[in-house]
Amino acid sequence: MGDLRKDYVLDKFVIVPMGIGDQHNKFADDKCPYCPGNEAMTEPALLALVAKDGMLQRLSDSEENIIEDWCVRVFQSSNPAVTTASSISYTDKPLYSEPAYGYHQVVVASPEHNQRLSKISVDQWANILLVIQDRLRWLYAQKSVTYVSIYVNSGQIAGTSMIHPHLNIVTFSAIPPTIELEAEASHRYMNENGNCSACSIISVEYSGPRQILDTDSFLAFSPWAPTYSYEFWIYPKRHTTAFSKITQKEISDLALILRATLGGMSKALKDASFNLVFHLSPEKKNSRQIHWHIEIYPQLNTWSGLERGFGVYVNIIRPEKSAEILGSACRKELAELVGIT
Ligand SMILES: [Zn+2]
Ligand SMILES: [Zn+2]
Ligand SMILES: [Zn+2]
Repeated sequence: MGDLRKDYVLDKFVIVPMGIGDQHNKFADDKCPYCPGNEAMTEPALLALVAKDGMLQRLSDSEENIIEDWCVRVFQSSNPAVTTASSISYTDKPLYSEPAYGYHQVVVASPEHNQRLSKISVDQWANILLVIQDRLRWLYAQKSVTYVSIYVNSGQIAGTSMIHPHLNIVTFSAIPPTIELEAEASHRYMNENGNCSACSIISVEYSGPRQILDTDSFLAFSPWAPTYSYEFWIYPKRHTTAFSKITQKEISDLALILRATLGGMSKALKDASFNLVFHLSPEKKNSRQIHWHIEIYPQLNTWSGLERGFGVYVNIIRPEKSAEILGSACRKELAELVGIT
């Protein structure tokens, strides 16, 4: 288990390993542990979604029985960022540290090794979203889970050497700084303006020069001041703060816009590495809520001293131009998905 160290004075957390370095490349073997048939190489499945007779069954591995023929499989990470193993490593300021306590689960998004999140079917994306909802409900019921972070690393420079498509779920006993900043800023905006900042952003960006795609319930657009080149966000158009409560219809629509935008992005940017993050409200009582959304960060160029040293971001493309390029690719992708050509 690692330590969560806090900067001397800033609200910045860093996870440092306890022992001698970390355990990258734990799977030295050529075999992919995420592939069907290799289930024994991972921790037991906490959830294996199996499609049978037109129904989805939520099963889990037991000692005697490893579930096969799954379409989505969730298990504890073998190289976790946080763990629930007990440890007593609290220290005081200015050298503050606490145990990096939490759950780190891997969601294998498809049984097919060479499949891509940008190419799997819309139905499979809906299955993944159902699993995420299931995991959110379970994790928030556990003690010391204050925040559940869900994210995708796709490609080497996005932070993974695993080709097999997957997502990560990592919990924390505090709210991560980025979510805290967003929640604080939207709370302030609400006090000053009487409405939700995200709802205002949606009305500003809707049908504007940065819009990428618009479906029944969701809007995808390039933000006004993107940190990354070709970055885009997906927001529910209706004001909603709890992802775990979105309806089946909204899940299907979210699956469609995710698949269409990721598919369009991968064509326009030639399969560039990317990160995708879910910015969801903390679901504990009395915590500040945010209008939840998804942010996608293509990784096309490396940062310079300005970004690394000063927090000032230099973009290689205007977001109006990137929205034009992504928009045309994503609309084409959507038309193919829904059968209008
Ligand atoms: Zn695989
Ligand atoms: Zn809102
Ligand atoms: Zn956000």
